Amino acid sequence: MKNVGLEVEPLIAVLSGDGIGPEVVEQGLRVLEAVGDRFGWRYRSETGIIGGAAIDACGSALPDEALRLARRADAIYFGAVGGPKWDDSRAAVRPEQGILKLRKTLDLYANLRPVRVFPALLSQSVLKEEIVRGTDMIVVRELTGGLYFGKPSRRWETSRGWRAVDTLAYSEPEIERVLRAGFELARGRRKKLTSVDKANVLTTGRFWREVATRVGQDYPDVELQHILVDAAAMYLMRRPSSFDVIVTENVFGDILTDEAAVLAGSMGMLPSASLGAAKNRAGGVRGLYEPIHGTALYTPEVVGTGRANPIAAILSAALMLRHSFALPEAAAAVETAVEAVLDEGYRTPDVAGAAGAGAGAEAVAIRIVTTAEIGRLVAERVAQIRITEPAAA
Ligand code: NAD
Repeated sequence: MKNVGLEVEPLIAVLSGDGIGPEVVEQGLRVLEAVGDRFGWRYRSETGIIGGAAIDACGSALPDEALRLARRADAIYFGAVGGPKWDDSRAAVRPEQGILKLRKTLDLYANLRPVRVFPALLSQSVLKEEIVRGTDMIVVRELTGGLYFGKPSRRWETSRGWRAVDTLAYSEPEIERVLRAGFELARGRRKKLTSVDKANVLTTGRFWREVATRVGQDYPDVELQHILVDAAAMYLMRRPSSFDVIVTENVFGDILTDEAAVLAGSMGMLPSASLGAAKNRAGGVRGLYEPIHGTALYTPEVVGTGRANPIAAILSAALMLRHSFALPEAAAAVETAVEAVLDEGYRTPDVAGAAGAGAGAEAVAIRIVTTAEIGRLVAERVAQIRITEPAAA
């Protein structure tokens, strides 16, 4: 009975967006309901509109009401936004403005992307099994500074033609807070932190490294390693299982996380959390949780057909339990339930490519099932999880 008796139940803002967003979020909510029942955890949820759906309804990608809901909430559960219907580069209002505004307004500066290769899906990776086996890392990308936000950022005409400029700028506190988030995570894991920069060329890279070294002195129990971003891109493919926590600048993180995503076999497998410094009423930090994939609206055979993989959304809900609701046992229960369902051979089509499942043991029959069926199976496994009570003093 974790929070029964609290005067106000924690609030989850559900902004599921477009395309497969609502389909996968629905399954994540189903799993959260099972967590509520199994762990005696009470919460409320309210829904709002965002992205293309919101543009259609009221002409804004993030209506004031949705922003107010997100501000009131203890955690935000987001699906995905965008699609061909709204994909006009000249349009003044675009779906992705909704999510960018949310991240910036709520100052969600640390984007956590866990990359874990489930044993049952080893054969789904584009890399050889012996290379990806054991991969379990978290990439922490700085999300509200760096090259994507530095000023000036503009183009102008000169007597010798057009020029354009973007600016990579960081303040010490901006670097420090994201590194601290990474060190704290590493402390609860295998105690290794890799700071990725471009210190050989960029002034900001040398500054980043200096701050990382100073902050690292506060975490003597965590082994700190510095790697240049180009080398990091190569090592991610050559020895992914050697990484524990990686912390890096916004644009480097954007690129490296997409590269790391291919290790897991499908976009439909990877969750994410965007965290700020603000504490919520539930004993955690306010955060936004979302699968890393998009709406799949450019692949219509996936949308509305039960073919979308909800596991990234379900694992994002697990991250919410861990970071926003301080329920590590419940988060682990969801992750264990997902692993069990995969080990039993259940798959959506995106991860059903190769025959043979199971942690390297006997192959089990692959059963291709729908989005809703995966959600139901995971919720069922959560309901069966044994909870270990702390030993009485
Ligand atoms: P996408 O992630 O939607 O799809 C890429 C490929 O992966 C497609 O083949 C798709 O069918 C497949 N896929 C993605 N998620 C899947 C899942 N859960 N299960 C099974 N297959 C899955 O990326 P895209 O096609 O480049 O973009 C589609 C739209 O989504 C675009 O409008 C894009 O801007 C938007 N998008 C939004 C976000 C976000 O809201 N955070 C992120 C990425 C893309």
